[in-house]
Amino acid sequence: MTTAKQKEEQEWQCGKCGGALQRGKVKVTYLGNDFEVEEYKCPSCGFVLITEKLALGQMAEVEQSLEDK
Ligand SMILES: [Zn+2]
Repeated sequence: MTTAKQKEEQEWQCGKCGGALQRGKVKVTYLGNDFEVEEYKCPSCGFVLITEKLALGQMAEVEQSLEDK
């Protein structure tokens, strides 16, 4: 059995300038509230990649925390 190590960190390319995206804190507004989430963004042009999986998961958490209040 071969255990080829897969890169866990997928490399994302900027949709605008083609540069490598880096993970970082990004401010998003959801339901009238500002949140800081970790997303991929381009250090060159400021493009932010919101991955659907990531966004949905984080937004679900946000909604829960809002309902707790
Ligand atoms: Zn870019």
